[in-house]
Amino acid sequence: MCRPFDSSLPSSSVLGPYKGGLRFHPTVDEGLLKFLGFEQIFKNALTGLPMGGGKGGSDFDPKGKSDAEIRRFCQSFMTELFRYLHPSTDVPAGDIGVGGREIGYMYGTYKRLTNKHGEGVLTGKSLLFGGSPLRPEATGYGLVYITKLAVEKQLNRSLSGLRCAVSGSGNVAQFATKKLLEYGAKVITVSDSNGLLLFEDGMTTEDLDIIMNCKNNHRGRLSSLEGKVSGTYLVGKSPWNLEIPMDIALPCATQNEINEDGANLLLKNGILLVGEGANLPTTLEGQEILRRGRRSSTSTTTAPSSVIYLPAKAANAGGVGVSGLEMSQNAQRLTWKPEEVDEQLQKMMSNIYSLMETHQGEHGSLEDGANIAGFVKVAEAMKELGWVQ
Ligand code: NAP
Repeated sequence: MCRPFDSSLPSSSVLGPYKGGLRFHPTVDEGLLKFLGFEQIFKNALTGLPMGGGKGGSDFDPKGKSDAEIRRFCQSFMTELFRYLHPSTDVPAGDIGVGGREIGYMYGTYKRLTNKHGEGVLTGKSLLFGGSPLRPEATGYGLVYITKLAVEKQLNRSLSGLRCAVSGSGNVAQFATKKLLEYGAKVITVSDSNGLLLFEDGMTTEDLDIIMNCKNNHRGRLSSLEGKVSGTYLVGKSPWNLEIPMDIALPCATQNEINEDGANLLLKNGILLVGEGANLPTTLEGQEILRRGRRSSTSTTTAPSSVIYLPAKAANAGGVGVSGLEMSQNAQRLTWKPEEVDEQLQKMMSNIYSLMETHQGEHGSLEDGANIAGFVKVAEAMKELGWVQ
């Protein structure tokens, strides 16, 4: 199952080639790809880079599969997908269940089938063959950069010492956690689909190293880390059904994690900001609760129930942003220095924050600003192209 040749899936090449992640997860179906593709179009517009939007994937479940099984699936998947890819047409990246390993197997198959190397037809590649420095880190780091800006500008505070609940323990969660720890924040949770690790007094960098080794090298479960890290494992729990004081919520696992009850609990826990690392992690009902409890950016209220809401299309745009930079490096046949990429990522997140502020209108919110800025850019480009999609 993929895009954009399936015309029922929302995708757009108005601003540039189709660009968005491939997801391998048993829940992947048309409905899921529709919302992901739709959001991707406007997220990519916010980055300021010439990228259209699309999404793809399969309901293949990589969990519990051997490395050889994963390799064979990726090879078969690309054997069909390759004919639709081109640096000027469609350039997929990773998403849930698709990381550097899977991108490598798919890129190898593309190279074998086409006898072409050096073309940026996939991003998130290894640094050994055309990947960008900081692409693995980009979504999580970008999320924390924009969260830091919001905390400083709206709350006049720094991230240092703030209690941050992170969900997930995959790519986005790991690097968001890493950057939060660098800024002196207290990371109190990470999770997977079976439960969570709770760090009442904050995780240490040693804990994070152990978690990353477990997840990235052994494809293990958080439950296996009980006794090996300073936190406690709680089976069946998510950070959004915990009653515990927290300042910042960074959902970084999957869609619909924070429902109505979860959003109410966040307010009760004293949350100041929700930054969406995952795509649409908050249900419509949950969003409504957060909106009602939310401080308007121009308001001076300090009511404890008010919350800043950074929607996914802005908050997690750093990943696709650095994918765009990977495409530029591939076109130049150069690899930039990590510091250069990091500087550009920080500028991109800062620009996105400014776009949200400038487009929010007099009584609007940062969320309104993100929606309007992304939509206006795509609509204006469509008009200038003569209403070509
Ligand atoms: P990942 O590396 O595959 O990690 C996903 C994490 O979420 C895992 O810890 C996984 O736990 C957990 N998870 C998945 N489904 C879950 C469920 N139903 N309930 C609870 N936990 C669940 O994926 P990722 O790349 O970090 O992506 C995470 C989110 O960020 C997704 O919404 C993705 O679309 C979004 N995103 C990613 C990027 C990127 O660059 N990777 C960019 C923008 C947005 P299990 O191992 O138990 O499944």
